[in-house]
Order: sequence, then C-alpha cells, then structure tokens
Amino acid sequence: MKEQKPYRDFSEFLLQKFSYKVQKISINAGFTCPNRDGSKGRGGCTYCNNQSFSPGYGKPTKTISEQLADGIEFFSHKYPEMKYLAYFQSYTNTYDSVEKLIAMYEEALAYPNVAGLVVSTRPDCMPNELLDYFEELNKKTFVLLEYGVESTLNKTLERVNRQHTFEESIEAIRKTAEKEIPVGAHLILGLPSETDDDILGHAQKLSELPLTTVKLHQLQIIRGTAMAKEYALLPESFYIFELEEYIDLCVDFAEQLNPNFYIERFASQSPKSLLIAPNWGLKNYELTEKVVKRFRERNTWQGKLFASDGFKSV
Ligand code: SF4
Repeated sequence: MKEQKPYRDFSEFLLQKFSYKVQKISINAGFTCPNRDGSKGRGGCTYCNNQSFSPGYGKPTKTISEQLADGIEFFSHKYPEMKYLAYFQSYTNTYDSVEKLIAMYEEALAYPNVAGLVVSTRPDCMPNELLDYFEELNKKTFVLLEYGVESTLNKTLERVNRQHTFEESIEAIRKTAEKEIPVGAHLILGLPSETDDDILGHAQKLSELPLTTVKLHQLQIIRGTAMAKEYALLPESFYIFELEEYIDLCVDFAEQLNPNFYIERFASQSPKSLLIAPNWGLKNYELTEKVVKRFRERNTWQGKLFASDGFKSV
C-alpha cells in the first residue's frame, strides 16, 4: 500500500478534480508587469530578473496554441491518456484589457485535451470584471488562480519593492474564494530581514485565509537583479539558508499550516547559469523527497501545530 504523505500534496487536489492524469503546461503569453512599466513602479521586485524585461527578451516567439502543442507533444508519448492545464505562468497574467485576456484564455481552453486553466498574477491585478469571468468559467471547467503574496509583512514587501501590501493579498484571496474559485498563494521563504519566527508567522497568517493551495520557494539571488547588487554590496544583510536548515524550515512551516491547504511545492531551482545563491545542486523533486523524509524523522505532519481557534504552542 502506498504510504500516506505527511502533508496534503497538490496531486491529491488534482486527483479529486480529475479522473485522469493532468499535467500543467507553462505558457508565456507575452505579458509585462505593472511594477515595471511605471503604472505601479519601474524597478520591479528586487529579486526579479531584469533581463526578462529587456526589449525583445523573453517575448514569446510562439502562439499560445503552439506552446501548448509543444508541451503536449512532449508528454503525450509517455502518457497518451493525459490531459493538460494551461498554466499562464510568466509575469503578470491578468495585466491587459479584459477582452484580450479572455481571448487568450479561451484560445488555450479551446486547444484539444486542455482541461482547465491555472493563472498566476499579482494580488493588485485582478479586476472585478475578470473575476466575474473566472467565476462563470469555474462553473464549467477547472480554474485555479494563484497570487504572488511573497510575504505577509509590509516592511518586507516594501524592502523588495513589491508595490503592493499584504492587505491587498488578503482582499484578492477573499474575493476569489467568495466566488468559489480555487485560490493559491505563492510565498518566498527567507526574504531579507525576515527571521524564522516571521516566516512561521506567514504560515499562521495564511492559515486564516480561505486558500486552496500554497506554493513555497526559497529566496534565490539571481544574476542581473537589483537584489544581486545589494547582495554583492552588503551580503551580511541577507541570510542564505543551508540546505538542511531549509528542509527543517519547510517542515516547521507545514506544521503551522492549515491542514486543509494543498502544498504544491517547497522549493524552486533556477538554472545554474542564473543562480548566485543558494546553490544546493538539487532538483525540486529531490528536495521534496528530503522534506518528506524529514517529516518522518521528526514524526510530524502538516497542521500538527495548527488549531482553527488559534495555534497550539510548541
Ligand atoms: S516578480 Fe512579478 S511583479 Fe515583481 S517585477 Fe517581476 S514580474 Fe513584476
């Protein structure tokens, strides 16, 4: 018998929704970002790779349908029965006129064997009209909206120039959940000045929100970013986790987390050529295996320290 995971894995969520295997296909639909084009800010978040915003860089050379065709071609040999979720992943995927956005999503949904949408965006970039569209869409097909929350502390959000507040994240998550649309939060663990207690505080604050999924990743210092410059000048103002510490932090975080949430990911690994630190040399699945092993060694599980009427003390 398959051993139960010590946390609620995102794959369980998909199993509940689909009777067949599904795979996300990432799409770069050519969006930009309000924190770059001046409508919110110009510099962008300090950890975000500037290169991606240079003229001509990262602009998709293929249409949405072509990107889906490539992704499906890759997976369908091995899993002919598989279906796909179009994952609008790059930059701010709700940042255009509602009309144009809907046309893009509909192009993806019309592609054969596409069984739903995952759309990632900033919490301050979800107009009501678009949310109404997603509400209707969610009655017919699978939709998951993911918001880049990144931190629950406004002083951190300011420090990394996010140009939105945690209150805006709360509002976007609540409005989305009120429409019964599955909603996810993305968080970066280890942003400058945050202590372990701050990070566990994120787990507690997120746990009070009507979230469906949570995605975590470690702070990565990426070449070409404002943060890379800061790191070169003042490395002591950053704390870069050792691998073993980060594994324990993931387990600590999950212990505090609402056990109803699905955890989609614990870490993310940028290409070596872009990464300054930390360089753990592990693939995401390898890190996840280590986290699962650590849960078992510590005989603990997601939500162990969570209580709906407050938090159990350690
Ligand atoms: S991280 Fe997202 S919101 Fe921040 S500058 Fe980059 S694309 Fe924009």
